[in-house]
Amino acid sequence: MTLSIHDSVTTIKGVGKAAGEQLEALGVSTLQDLFMTFPYRHEDFRLKDLTETPHNERVTIEGRVESEPSILFLGKNRSRLQIRLLAGRHLVKAVFFNQHYLKERLSLGTIVTVTGKWDRGRQVINVSNFKDGPKTDQADFEPVYSLKGVMHQKTFRRFMRSALDAAVGQHAESLPADIREMYRLPAIGNGLEMIHFPTSPADVKHARRRFVYEELLMFQLKMLGMKKARKEAEKGVAIDYDLAKVKTFIAALPFELTGAQKRVVNELCGELKSPTRMNRLLQGDVGSGKTVVAAIALYAAITAGFQGALMAPTEILAEQHASTLAEWLEPHGITVAFLAGSTKAKARRDLLEKLESGEVDLLIGTHALIQPDVIFKNPGLVITDEQHRFGVEQRRVLRDKGLNPDVLFMTATPIPRTLAITAFGEMDVSILDELPAGRKLIETHWLKEDSLLPVLRKMENELSAGRQAYVICPLIEESDKLDVQNAVDVHSQLSTHFSGKYTVGLMHGRLHSDDKDAIMRDFSEGKIDVLVSTTVVEVGVNVPNATFMLIYDATRFGLAQLHQLRGRVGRGAEQSYCVLLADPKTEEGKERMQTMTETNDGFVLAEKDLELRGAGDFFGKKQSGMPEFKVADPVHDYRALETARKDAEQLLESRHFWEDQEYAILRSHLEESGALSGDRID
Ligand code: ADP
Ligand code: MG
Repeated sequence: MTLSIHDSVTTIKGVGKAAGEQLEALGVSTLQDLFMTFPYRHEDFRLKDLTETPHNERVTIEGRVESEPSILFLGKNRSRLQIRLLAGRHLVKAVFFNQHYLKERLSLGTIVTVTGKWDRGRQVINVSNFKDGPKTDQADFEPVYSLKGVMHQKTFRRFMRSALDAAVGQHAESLPADIREMYRLPAIGNGLEMIHFPTSPADVKHARRRFVYEELLMFQLKMLGMKKARKEAEKGVAIDYDLAKVKTFIAALPFELTGAQKRVVNELCGELKSPTRMNRLLQGDVGSGKTVVAAIALYAAITAGFQGALMAPTEILAEQHASTLAEWLEPHGITVAFLAGSTKAKARRDLLEKLESGEVDLLIGTHALIQPDVIFKNPGLVITDEQHRFGVEQRRVLRDKGLNPDVLFMTATPIPRTLAITAFGEMDVSILDELPAGRKLIETHWLKEDSLLPVLRKMENELSAGRQAYVICPLIEESDKLDVQNAVDVHSQLSTHFSGKYTVGLMHGRLHSDDKDAIMRDFSEGKIDVLVSTTVVEVGVNVPNATFMLIYDATRFGLAQLHQLRGRVGRGAEQSYCVLLADPKTEEGKERMQTMTETNDGFVLAEKDLELRGAGDFFGKKQSGMPEFKVADPVHDYRALETARKDAEQLLESRHFWEDQEYAILRSHLEESGALSGDRID
């Protein structure tokens, strides 16, 4: 009987109601679902020659039982059964733990196949897998699936086998022959056979290449389709800014823009002027001067009669942006307002009124900006600093209100290219790859945790020259409470140490936001010399007089986060220092510390971080924004990702793609994603 791949799994021979429900629990309802549940590994049952098998390696042998089984009972439900086996020229012992019931099947002269760990010195196999009869009855490779204990591997395997047999020739091929030939990829039916029931490791590799490519191609088509659809269908606003005013504004800044800043400003202004809606990512290393670029773009939009918004992840950062931008923009007649969770009710009401009437030109704040009663009269450009999640949500909120402003996301840390084209595949990207002139590289040292005293002396050197220091506290697991306790302890130790000479401040996430702001202000005005803090200072804060940073427990942080923390110093013209206290236990940990001392380049660190820790950890769980893939791993498969990206670009431009039957499935995928209807999934 042949089955269609869209049939329910219950049409498979042997799958009854109960099994159907178990499969359902694994997310498998149709044959197609079943086929796309790939094994995460294969058990290798190929026969091996014992002379060539290293000690402690897993091995499968076929042999004849040469001695009556002897059984030793070791107490409650525990036993040790032993036989002698003749495998080729080898007479070895095979030991079975807690399987004394196998005795009957192991009588003298029987042929059996066993798999287990090979103890070469003692010539013993510790059997983990046993089969009656010769090896010929068993496949060389058995798939192992992730079944969460819902079902036995053996049962699932049996279902897979009969389903594959029943559906031969029924698979819908999504990859046209041209593409398969070009990359030598197996057709869908073969691919499935090879990935589930391979006859060699090469089969698995070969099949996997197909499914990885297919998944990435679909993904890239969707991303590019969304981008294309946005450009064609969605009318953004053409922001006809006043070039002369923008030039005057730039000329009045306290510094000359870097080449990279000029280039990015041009990119942004060009897009403001066009009627397509901006959906852009601005990547720039820590300290590369993203804020001023944002200010210029916002100012441009405002000169055209629009309003602007700038959103930051923390209140401290938002307030700092508000004061910086007010300083730059107010002399040019711009009204800047600040809104955060802590804004008092009356002030908030006033502000919202002015926002709705258009009296406020630029609103800066935290995610308080995306609350439903925050209504802009005429938003032209919305910028999100240091956290992309916000932007996505906020954009949805604005769109729900019928507004379509241009949107710019500024990232906290450089994102490796592979991740950027995955997580932000449907966005345009601008890059600030130059630091303002005169910046000195931050000198970074990695010391063992018992070297605190010399570090404090070095810190004191800086303090005595009138500079300031950050001390980032030990991080304890995920517990915010314990972190705070740690910060309190370190603060009291340092207060004693510097008593009478320097002021030591304390900052952590549990402080009331008014207190946090007060402390940050004191630090920024130089009233506090040493700021002891948890990682709340991590993002964006700018105090150029701070030239020294001490980070406790540095191994607990990822490279991207360390780089972000370290970026709090080195923001002025003075030489800055960063000391990492760490006793890494793993090689990976040592490598991370070493890398920190060797480079100040955020793009290099980002690539390294990704290499060492993988994509999941790179963004952090909460704000990952990374799409989930079934087969592909965008880091490991970055070559395939780039190929798929390039191919997707070409496909969208080719007539075949839009017209030929062979491309129908790829095309339908694009349509289903909503990419062509303008009904976007953000
Ligand atoms: P980030 O990109 O990390 O957000 P900021 O925008 O906070 O960096 O800029 C870091 C510091 O560099 C700020 O003090 C800012 O005023 C200063 N800065 C920005 N651009 C320039 C420039 N072209 N020349 C000199 N200093 C600059
Ligand atoms: Mg910044």
